[in-house]
Amino acid sequence: MSRAGRPRTCSIGRVSRYDTAVSSEQTYDFDLFVIGAGSGGVRAARMAGAAGARVAVAEASDLGGTCVNLGCVPKKLLMYASAYRDAFEDAAGFGWTVGPRTFDWQALIKRKNAEISRLNGIYGRLLDNTGVELVRGYARVVGPHQVEVGDTRYTAKNILVATGSRPVVPAIAGAEHIVTSDQAFHLPELPRRIAVVGGGYIGVEFAGIFEGMGAEVTLVHRGEKLLRGFDDDLRTRLGESLRARGIDLRLRDEITAIKQVGEGYEASLKSGDVVTVDLVMYATGRRPNTKGLGLEQVGVALGQRGEVLVDELFRTNVPSIWALGDVIDRVALTPVALEEGMALVQTLCFDNPQSIDYTNIPTAVFSQPPIATVGLTEAEAEAQAPDGIDVYTSEFRPMRNTLSGRGQKTFMKLLVDRQSDRVLGVHMLGPDGPEIIQALAICLKMGATKAQFDATIGLHPSTAEEFVTMRSKRK
Ligand code: NDP
Repeated sequence: MSRAGRPRTCSIGRVSRYDTAVSSEQTYDFDLFVIGAGSGGVRAARMAGAAGARVAVAEASDLGGTCVNLGCVPKKLLMYASAYRDAFEDAAGFGWTVGPRTFDWQALIKRKNAEISRLNGIYGRLLDNTGVELVRGYARVVGPHQVEVGDTRYTAKNILVATGSRPVVPAIAGAEHIVTSDQAFHLPELPRRIAVVGGGYIGVEFAGIFEGMGAEVTLVHRGEKLLRGFDDDLRTRLGESLRARGIDLRLRDEITAIKQVGEGYEASLKSGDVVTVDLVMYATGRRPNTKGLGLEQVGVALGQRGEVLVDELFRTNVPSIWALGDVIDRVALTPVALEEGMALVQTLCFDNPQSIDYTNIPTAVFSQPPIATVGLTEAEAEAQAPDGIDVYTSEFRPMRNTLSGRGQKTFMKLLVDRQSDRVLGVHMLGPDGPEIIQALAICLKMGATKAQFDATIGLHPSTAEEFVTMRSKRK
């Protein structure tokens, strides 16, 4: 739709409580200039555009940011691909004879790339349809209301920094041989032996992906358990599951040096072992993308990790500059960035200041089997509930695994506040966990009690019904 044809409902160009114009006579090229066309940036840009604001978004790379190009989307496609190995094996238990199997990494990557290009196109059209001008190139903030892309300077009433984050790797001898998730999605071939370093989301997910595709995987993690921050029962069981699948899990260990040997690498571990692999992938966290953006020069305060410091409305200490998503280093999840983007548009465009509620954010790790969780861990719930908590757990062999013969069990856990009967946390390790927990997150958001879970009739036969039939407390 042409800009002229759209209703001008957004108050961003008019004087509002959140108006940042230095003078009412001053005019700008844009009401909002967004830096970064990732999840949060695109959402804010197109919602503001749809509301009638004059919006530009600068992006030097593919549209959609990490999630679409080098994260959630391609990761899940690769995860689906790797899960077929189990499916082929399990099929025999249900009477199927599956012929010889081969896996073609290049074919998968080609198809994955085609799907990502399709999504890039959709993102472009979303911007176009809401009248957002796409500026190609790296943007630099050169003043409170000025942004430069290449040789062109733009003025904007408001600037939104939504530049995301990038992987970081520690400085070790041989670090030049390391790949991160950025390269892992485009490897020319599937390595036969892989060392993955890091026991967080990405390390655990990629270890499972590569193992499912037939690689020998060593997962090296410096901690005692994987996935710091998750409920302890899930962390323990996930470690056991990965080992049972054949992943060589090295806990309390670290790579100290990597040496190229022929076509492969020798990775020396702190424990004294040496692992010989064809690829070393690090998944040791991500850092906000603020380097070279010019933010410090215009006085925007950054935190210790380089994150942009913002208030509850996503405003920096420079009133015309805002930031959201991974770059503010709060919760690095796409749906959170989307929510932050929508809140910002309410603040800027509709004079309706909005912050977001960071409690009860559901999250999943697409390991095999997946982990999904919402609410407090047992340790957090215990610390917060004055009268203590009741813990309900269930561990069972899912029905599919009876005939398939697969030994993997599903684990489910409910944490209940004794005083209020409110369900404080729901945790699951097992197939369909992410789908189940997303729905249960609504219950937690509504403050559901255990009595309400109990009063809900189960959907039979399903795994999810277990969450409404848990009756015995863990002693
Ligand atoms: P995480 O922060 O999740 O995990 C980083 C891991 O690396 C931790 O196990 C950490 O150990 C370890 N580590 C950190 N520094 C070092 C070091 N110097 N040497 C050895 N180990 C180190 O980061 P990821 O990179 O896995 O993912 C980044 C973020 O992206 C996630 O936190 C999540 O927010 C998001 N994400 C979400 C996904 C999803 O929703 N499914 C999927 C992928 C990413 P320790 O615990 O001891 O600090």
